[in-house]
Amino acid sequence: FSEPIRDSHVAVLAFFPVGAHAGPLLAVTRRLAAASPSTIFSFFNTARSNASLFSSDHPENIKVHDVSDGVPEGTMLGNPLEMVELFLEAAPRIFRSEIAAAEIEVGKKVTCMLTDAFFWFAADIAAELNATWVAFWAGGANSLCAHLYTDLIRETIGLKDVSMEETLGFIPGMENYRVKDIPEEVVFEDLDSVFPKALYQMSLALPRASAVFISSFEELEPTLNYNLRSKLKRFLNIAPLTLLSSTSEKEMRDPHGCFAWMGKRSAASVAYISFGTVMEPPPEELVAIAQGLESSKVPFVWSLKEKNMVHLPKGFLDRTREQGIVVPWAPQVELLKHEAMGVNVTHCGWNSVLESVSAGVPMIGRPILADNRLNGRAVEVVWKVGVMMDNGVFTKEGFEKCLNDVFVHDDGKTMKANAKKLKEKLQEDFSMKGSSLENFKILLDEIVKV
Ligand code: UDP
Repeated sequence: FSEPIRDSHVAVLAFFPVGAHAGPLLAVTRRLAAASPSTIFSFFNTARSNASLFSSDHPENIKVHDVSDGVPEGTMLGNPLEMVELFLEAAPRIFRSEIAAAEIEVGKKVTCMLTDAFFWFAADIAAELNATWVAFWAGGANSLCAHLYTDLIRETIGLKDVSMEETLGFIPGMENYRVKDIPEEVVFEDLDSVFPKALYQMSLALPRASAVFISSFEELEPTLNYNLRSKLKRFLNIAPLTLLSSTSEKEMRDPHGCFAWMGKRSAASVAYISFGTVMEPPPEELVAIAQGLESSKVPFVWSLKEKNMVHLPKGFLDRTREQGIVVPWAPQVELLKHEAMGVNVTHCGWNSVLESVSAGVPMIGRPILADNRLNGRAVEVVWKVGVMMDNGVFTKEGFEKCLNDVFVHDDGKTMKANAKKLKEKLQEDFSMKGSSLENFKILLDEIVKV
């Protein structure tokens, strides 16, 4: 990049207590830091998250700060939502004081706040600091749109006895999505409770941001992109960010030998199973997955959180020793690109969907929470690159049927062909002709200008 040298200080507010938010934001921060070496990026995140993200050297102009997660010492947390609520209540205070300290340390006023979009209060902090605010939405255009249209959705479907199957034809670009796909917080929960309220405040604050960006590419949802550009000052698709982390980090994160195992399988034969960083289907569904795998004999790599391994049927690991491996963490991005990969069995978290699309791998979906149902709907109906579990749950028979659809039936061939086409579009977007580079330059300019 031949950008002029600029003298700016960017406060990156990365931490969010659940979900894969900080990694993609760090990936874009690294790219920005490399493109603008004279800009200082103060990166605020919890010590634990920082420790997992910064496993290799980082550029000198990224200053890493460990911040509190807002959970008082000794608190026993019941579920991830409690963590989110405690964090959201403490976050404005924590970030204000951390930013003040970083300004002194760096010797420069903060000129831009680059934050997770959930941090609606960043609009006010940025105004107080006379800085710009650029927000990163960690999901796709579909869920961002659902949040930005919260009022309209509540007015339109809340007044009548609406069918859950009804589609959102009143929002351009959302015609294929149904009422039941919308995140719970947008329409089904009380806007006075902490998390739905924060998301609602976010939907009101985001139009104040000088730019909002997502990890995606233009071709995926053209009508939604157009719509979002009308709601926000600037809306940008920046190349899938979880694909940008460095090779050394990825290599370090295969402690369970997934690649060695994959290397012995035939092309497009393996089912990869993972439900992201937060949740997992309930125990009875984990049993159904295990049974479906055993009876279908499909080779598998299953990333299953350690605490849930107790739910595997007795003797399953012994009986499937030759058929597959169960690991507590897998190098997903790289595994999906492996030629032996056949299908991604996923909760349809945004990053997982994007990683699958980028690798041209079809999906079997079992959405769990938040944006998962919208993403699953896009996978099945908009892009036609996968199939969702019947009634949204795993049963042995249902899972066998989906595996059969992907590996044996013509439906599977169509899904694979569509996945391949999307992969090609993404590659085109990455190329010199595509919008990816141009969008990144615009983002850089928004962030480092003083
Ligand atoms: N992931 C991984 N290995 C695993 C499980 C998950 O690398 O064993 C990564 C995956 O590649 C993705 C992220 O964790 O980048 C999960 O993000 P997603 O948005 O799909 O789901 P979330 O965790 O936010 O629900």
